[in-house]
Amino acid sequence: MGVFTGRTALVTGASRGIGRGIAERLGRDGARVAVHYGRNEAAAKETVAAIEEAGGSAFTIGVELGRPGDAEALWEEFDRHADGLDILVNNAGIGTSAPFGEIDEEEYDRVFAVNVKAPHFITQQGASRLRDGGRVVNISSGLARNAVMPEKMAYAMTKAALDVFTRDLSKVLGPRGITVNTVAPGIVDTDVNADWLRAGDEARAGAAAISALGRVGTPGDVADVVAFLASEAGRWVTGSWVDATGGSLK
Ligand code: NAP
Repeated sequence: MGVFTGRTALVTGASRGIGRGIAERLGRDGARVAVHYGRNEAAAKETVAAIEEAGGSAFTIGVELGRPGDAEALWEEFDRHADGLDILVNNAGIGTSAPFGEIDEEEYDRVFAVNVKAPHFITQQGASRLRDGGRVVNISSGLARNAVMPEKMAYAMTKAALDVFTRDLSKVLGPRGITVNTVAPGIVDTDVNADWLRAGDEARAGAAAISALGRVGTPGDVADVVAFLASEAGRWVTGSWVDATGGSLK
């Protein structure tokens, strides 16, 4: 018996990176996991296989986010596999990097559509499926509270918007015993940072030095924090912004 035995979880963007780490963590502890992906079905199936190899249960949901009707499509697919939900992790997200004067409207709209609008409407339309006492965890970023990379301003703004969503939604869903929290990672070794972190020892050491703990984060570091908030032990934490940056904001 794991702490999530009997619970169903949906993790968006679980084909790779942090989402995959979260899906595997929840699955290992007994949750039945809906592994959402956008384009990488094969990678999502690898996440499912890893969960099953660890004795868990999972299924995939493939829906490209950031398009009209994406939330409806996601829940339609979810409903074919499961009846109700206990844990929703809004993790899928994209980055954008451009000097202030160069970001164009198309890129701006896209990053807001995927990082803000999609989690908003996925949660709005999923609220009736979420059982009382459930959990919502939104994956933000330390950049929402740190101007160290101003070329990522639009991305950071999307995460700040998600943080407000967390704060206010906790009041909306609180009467049903549903907690809503933000987990904000710092630099994590995923595909998003591959060019930078895998460019050589010097680049990696520079990234590691940003955290108080002197290393780059792993998806597992973030997944453990999410698992705490999703568990019974996290029941009295809601509307919170949880710093999972390894002390990068200190
Ligand atoms: P990643 O390795 O690039 O993985 C992104 C995941 O999101 C993939 O599963 C991808 O699915 C999915 N996704 C992206 N765009 C999508 C879309 N339009 N529709 C559907 N699915 C989509 O990213 P990551 O580094 O794990 O980041 C995960 C979350 O953590 C993001 O919200 C990110 O902003 C946040 N974060 C990351 C870091 C970091 O250093 N890595 C730091 C702070 C916050 P497919 O591959 O199947 O398309």
